[in-house]
Amino acid sequence: MTIHAVRGVHDILPGEGEKWRRVERIAREVFDSYGYEEIRLPIFERTDLFARSIGEATDIVQKEMYTFEDRGGDSVTLRPEATAGLLRAYIEHGLFVHPKPIKLYTMGPMFRYERPQAGRYRQFHQLDVEALGDEHPSLDAEVIAMLVEFFRRLDLAERLQVEINSLGDENPTCRPRYRTELVRYLRAHADRLCDECRERMERNPLRVLDCKKPECRRVLDGAPALGDFLCEDCAPHFGKTREYLEAMGIRYVVSPRLVRGLDYYVRTTFELTTTELGAQNAVAGGGRYDGLIKLLGGPPDPGIGFAVGVERVVQLLPDVAQGAWQDRRPGVFLIPLGDEALRRLLPVAGELRAKGIVVEVGHGERKLTRELERASKLEEAKRLGVLHAVILGPDELARGEAKVKDMKSGAQRAVPLSGLVDELLALGGRA
Ligand code: ATP
Ligand code: MG
Repeated sequence: MTIHAVRGVHDILPGEGEKWRRVERIAREVFDSYGYEEIRLPIFERTDLFARSIGEATDIVQKEMYTFEDRGGDSVTLRPEATAGLLRAYIEHGLFVHPKPIKLYTMGPMFRYERPQAGRYRQFHQLDVEALGDEHPSLDAEVIAMLVEFFRRLDLAERLQVEINSLGDENPTCRPRYRTELVRYLRAHADRLCDECRERMERNPLRVLDCKKPECRRVLDGAPALGDFLCEDCAPHFGKTREYLEAMGIRYVVSPRLVRGLDYYVRTTFELTTTELGAQNAVAGGGRYDGLIKLLGGPPDPGIGFAVGVERVVQLLPDVAQGAWQDRRPGVFLIPLGDEALRRLLPVAGELRAKGIVVEVGHGERKLTRELERASKLEEAKRLGVLHAVILGPDELARGEAKVKDMKSGAQRAVPLSGLVDELLALGGRA
């Protein structure tokens, strides 16, 4: 019986891996250029961390976490997102003593027990970025600009829309005042809402704004808008964020109903969306979470960040042309005929590789005659698109030389074994 992967997880096979490498390389280049540093975090944490930070009433904590008791009886959870663990590390290691903002990023797998469907997995990957300790709106704008720059470098920016909103804060004159109004409105129209929204209305009313069902949308179109309720601190913060975005030439739309699934967001919130991925239209999302670090037992530092869904980005990227991995196509193919020749060529392979040349060794098939083996290996070298093949058989060994064949022209010449590495380095092993 063959064993298959667990439902909702996926393998990233070599052909696709090229796109992943590109996404990760560009992420590092862009984030580095904005002064962010990489932090690597465990993929599981104490369950309390997520319950406390993400919020008990969220979908993630209510039904999506992979939680289990380890052998010591502790409850641990595979991380459903990276912010909580990153802040835990920020507090635990006292990173807040450094000059602010502290700018960090991390990347890796996240785990959520969701219903698997196109673009939605149970193990998926995120790039996660956080800027901590500064509440100036220009940081909000810069974080969004950096995210857009990342997509620009991937040639995807034109296919995405930047949506922003302000969620206000927990100041009684701000979001709580809005929440009261919203619940009043929703209750008055409860009979036209779906079951899920009717339930959410009491538990986590802002999430109702997010419902995609047409019948709910019709009700929500008439709902009060959070933007009209922002307090005297949050309204100018949002205004300034928008001004700075405009100064940087970042195009965006204000989506008054953009809310996010996690409780901890305040003020600026944003999403990058596309119309190309069906229902799973969010490619990245983030926002400000000014009270969260304190809630987790740290200093009262504000924070802002985002997460990019790597699977969805990869899905948008065009297939990689053959040429893209030509750099890693073998430059030299070593063909030993017999064991003695193999022993002589193995260190040659090592020396060339140490100098950055990609080398393939035809390890030999004992079943074939030398002639057949030579022919079959040359055939293989051709198929791999190798530039130079090196043939070493008993005759060549006896003369203390090897044959170097230029695979493009077919020209072949003898090179003394003692100078073989230098000769191949001079040829470069590259086109
Ligand atoms: P959604 O509305 O799609 O459920 P979310 O609000 O739960 O998204 P976040 O927690 O903000 O998502 O995660 C940021 C990004 O991670 C999303 O925009 C999406 O691209 C990606 N993502 C989230 N959940 C999954 C998943 N189960 N599979 C693949 N990608 C995901
Ligand atoms: Mg979700």
